[in-house]
Amino acid sequence: MRQFTTTDLLQQEPQYATSRMTLDLLIARNRGWATHARRSDPGYFRRHQTGQSPRCLWIGCADSRVPAESMVQAGPGELFVLRNVANQVLPDDDGIMSGVYYALTALKVDTIIVCGHTRCGGVAYATQQATASQVPQQNDPLYRQLTPLSQHLRGSLESRPQWLQLDEEAFQRQMVEQNVRLQINQLAATPLFQSVLQERPVALYGCIYDLGTGRLDVLEGDTP
Ligand SMILES: [Zn+2]
Repeated sequence: MRQFTTTDLLQQEPQYATSRMTLDLLIARNRGWATHARRSDPGYFRRHQTGQSPRCLWIGCADSRVPAESMVQAGPGELFVLRNVANQVLPDDDGIMSGVYYALTALKVDTIIVCGHTRCGGVAYATQQATASQVPQQNDPLYRQLTPLSQHLRGSLESRPQWLQLDEEAFQRQMVEQNVRLQINQLAATPLFQSVLQERPVALYGCIYDLGTGRLDVLEGDTP
């Protein structure tokens, strides 16, 4: 079979032009970033070749508006970052748990942050499922991934119906908080986390990032 070059694709399939421009822009920015980093600190990349020792595991949402490193001004090597839709920590999801396992047992991080954010599309989706009178069965990855969350939110709303009286923004904020608390509880209950705790202290925090202000706040209070 003939191997198409990028030029072939651009000529025959105009839709590739847009994605190629996106890639070219990112590559150009990368060159600028690497040059700047090298000029301001000649040993910058050499140091990173010898390994990593981040102190913090960050579990955040994949939302493009929630940049983990930028919001806490962390450079390469400072955060071990795992991101997925609505920052889910499902104990039977090897995608996330393999990262948690590596961070705890190999990197030996001493801090874990689960970071949710306001106006989270994943939480809004799960909330919609939780409040609908009838939810049609679906079989797509997003539905499967967020079903445990929507079931949890449904239970929370049944026990605290007063939340349904909140205005839309406060209600969504409450759902985002409930999501972070659920993920923390699920992570804390894993045999992996419990066994690491037997050996050394590991702090587990929930945080909420506010898209409107850029502020990251620690979620305080008892988990429900
Ligand atoms: Zn989100």
